[in-house]
Amino acid sequence: MSGQLTYENWDQEKVRQILEQHSDYLEILKWALEHYHDEIIYACSFGAEGMVMLDILSKLPRSAPVIFLDTGLHFPETYQLIEKAKRRYPSLKISMVKPKLTLEEQKARYGDSLWKKNPDLCCHIRKVLPMQDALKNAKAWISGLRREQSPSRKNIQFINRDEKFKKIKICPLIHWTWEDILTYIRLHKLPYNPLHDRGYPSIGCAPCTRPVSDGEDFRAGRWSGHNKTECGLHGNE
Ligand code: SF4
Repeated sequence: MSGQLTYENWDQEKVRQILEQHSDYLEILKWALEHYHDEIIYACSFGAEGMVMLDILSKLPRSAPVIFLDTGLHFPETYQLIEKAKRRYPSLKISMVKPKLTLEEQKARYGDSLWKKNPDLCCHIRKVLPMQDALKNAKAWISGLRREQSPSRKNIQFINRDEKFKKIKICPLIHWTWEDILTYIRLHKLPYNPLHDRGYPSIGCAPCTRPVSDGEDFRAGRWSGHNKTECGLHGNE
């Protein structure tokens, strides 16, 4: 098989062949890192899945630059965890990607607390546009999405044609359960966000994340009260 798989030349038969030869999370991850060389990045949210993925990446001979979409509105615990991860994995290149608009500029243009009035616009400014920028020179990106996280993620594949950013999106952890993630974290004694132990299975920006109660959906604490379940990065699954 020759030629790079890109958004533009997406070929279902080629994808089928790749998956036939690389059938688990590690094989597909290694394939992607090799196939895209310096044209692939990992967008890490530093949730529990993110910590697992960083650990896996740090143990491979070839890695990918890691980016964190720093909206300026994350929990202090998240920023502390990122510093810990930088110390633990000095070989990984972890960068904070910031929006063009500062919070002050956003407030001046759209008024106070845009996330309350129009979270889609807020996510667009603080996450989607910076991600577009980060992907400018990339053909592919890696994400830690898992199928069981929400109904909108149940059809994600290892290799996806990402309509949002017009790239290839690689999701090695699609088959992992929450229990698998926690087991990996325990086994490898990984640092993780302490908010996970306080009822936050899914952690995003502080103004848009609340803890969930027993029996509530995994992502029920995200944009609670709004008809919104994704930040706009994962729109086409
Ligand atoms: S999650 Fe909330 S605060 Fe963060 S960018 Fe989206 S709307 Fe804004």
